[in-house]
Amino acid sequence: MPASRPFDRPAMLSALRHEEFDVLVVGGGVTGLGVAVDAASRGLRTALVERDDFASGTSSKSSKLVHGGLRYLQQGEVRLVYEALHERQRLLRNAPHLVEVLPFMIPILTKDGLVSRKIARALGSALWMYDLTGGWRIGRFHRRLRKNKARRMMPTMPSDRLASAYVYYDAQADDARLCISLARTAADHGAVVVNRCAFRDGAATADGDTFAVKARVVVNATGVWNEEVPTRPAKGVHVTVPWEKVRNTIAVVIPVPKDRRSLFVVPWGKRPDGTFIHTYVGTTDTDYSGPLDDPQCTRTDIDYVLRALNASVTTGVTERDITGVWAGLRPLVKETADSRTADLSRRHLVSTGDSGAITVTGGKLTTYRHMAEDAVDRVCEVLGKKARSRTKRLRLNGHDGSREREISELIRERPELGESLVDGLPYTRAEAVYAARHEMANTLDDVLSRRTRSLIFDRDASRRAARTTAELIAADLAWTPDRIEREVTAYEEICRHEEVAAELSEDQLHA
Ligand SMILES: Cc1cc2nc3c(=O)[nH]c(=O)nc-3n(C[C@H](O)[C@H](O)[C@H](O)COP(=O)(O)OP(=O)(O)OC[C@H]3O[C@@H](n4cnc5c(N)ncnc54)[C@H](O)[C@@H]3O)c2cc1C
Repeated sequence: MPASRPFDRPAMLSALRHEEFDVLVVGGGVTGLGVAVDAASRGLRTALVERDDFASGTSSKSSKLVHGGLRYLQQGEVRLVYEALHERQRLLRNAPHLVEVLPFMIPILTKDGLVSRKIARALGSALWMYDLTGGWRIGRFHRRLRKNKARRMMPTMPSDRLASAYVYYDAQADDARLCISLARTAADHGAVVVNRCAFRDGAATADGDTFAVKARVVVNATGVWNEEVPTRPAKGVHVTVPWEKVRNTIAVVIPVPKDRRSLFVVPWGKRPDGTFIHTYVGTTDTDYSGPLDDPQCTRTDIDYVLRALNASVTTGVTERDITGVWAGLRPLVKETADSRTADLSRRHLVSTGDSGAITVTGGKLTTYRHMAEDAVDRVCEVLGKKARSRTKRLRLNGHDGSREREISELIRERPELGESLVDGLPYTRAEAVYAARHEMANTLDDVLSRRTRSLIFDRDASRRAARTTAELIAADLAWTPDRIEREVTAYEEICRHEEVAAELSEDQLHA
């Protein structure tokens, strides 16, 4: 087994140039990082390159649910749900520092003053199926709630329309943080892992330099950017509002009026008194033909989400209440041209192209480990190696609380690092320093968007903290005053672009 490597970008880049690898993984989203962990922990000499930041593609823009997906069960995808629920349990065990059980409520609403017994019964049966397909593994079965109890879970729901509710259990994880933990786990098992390093036509480009990488097999895990397997990008957005506007203590599934979809309303940022800082609402699911590098939450998306939310709460949420948004593209494997993207399968695909590269795509955040296992099985076939996957029981980096301990140590040395990084958000300044020092953050956006989730939960507060954050990490990243200025301007531009997109339709934005 290769020795563990320090998570240090210059050392990683040097190793990428000079060493030989069994496998080079292209793409540092959850899929590629999962492949790197699987390959390295089997003892393969592994490298991974990510052209932007880890998780900067779809893997920081999901609904952050580690779940089987009740909806997929209703679409008859029993095997997919079974596998996903199995993976959910593995993640709860292997990454207890990142993945948490999350109860969900499905309200049963009246129509014209009546409860549809048929709908309530169908829902009850679907939840039994979910439990039996593997939901039970979480240790709790679904249950029915009377109206009053249901209302306590989300007191802003219109009382006259609420009849009762069902509660069931799934899990939640910060997707971008999961990716960082995977990147570090891969390095712990000897993999070379580098961000801001693109791979194209057999060569890597990093820091303005192009060089060959010596690898026997290439795995393409570039999500919607892959050019080997036809994918059909489907855009999904989320909108964040202050928790007080919804006051839900569990995740709630709300119907979208005049559409057969529903949205998740998820509390985020638990305070010690059991209240939360924010609630996010999503996701939409629409065909997307705009630039792959720039999915944005548009006026149309915001109207859609607010229309659904306001049909389920009485607090009158407007666009002025929105504190953050995010938009991502699902890498769905193409089936037929006329199917709705919401109906396309979330199954994954491993295929070998004419070039010999192995592409792994589709799937879900929840099933990344299984996808990775299948992809590395194929790598081993090509290499003629017999090595079994070890990831079913492999603990991810940080499971033992090491990150928290190291952050506390930073605060002990410099108590001012214990102060808040962004007003109103639960991050300390020490976390920004730690990100620059130990998590390969190399831009201000890396720190505010992915190492912490400040941008997506409170854009304006993150913007106000941009300069102090840049100054705080400047020493570790050897930034000059001029570079600090450029980082702050670039971050301001990201915020501004989101604001402009929120005023336009998709066509106007990309005209
Ligand atoms: C709105 C939305 C909600 C979702 N919610 C959930 C959920 O709640 N639960 C769940 O399980 N799943 C969810 N998913 C699905 C899940 O997020 C995706 O399946 C998963 O993140 C895809 O990861 P990936 O690594 O394949 O792709 P990506 O994360 O996009 O990674 C691909 C990476 O490849 C890099 N890259 C591209 N070209 C190159 C190159 N030439 N060289 C180097 N690097 C390159 C990109 O920069 C990118 O970082 C959701 C998806 C969306 C869009």
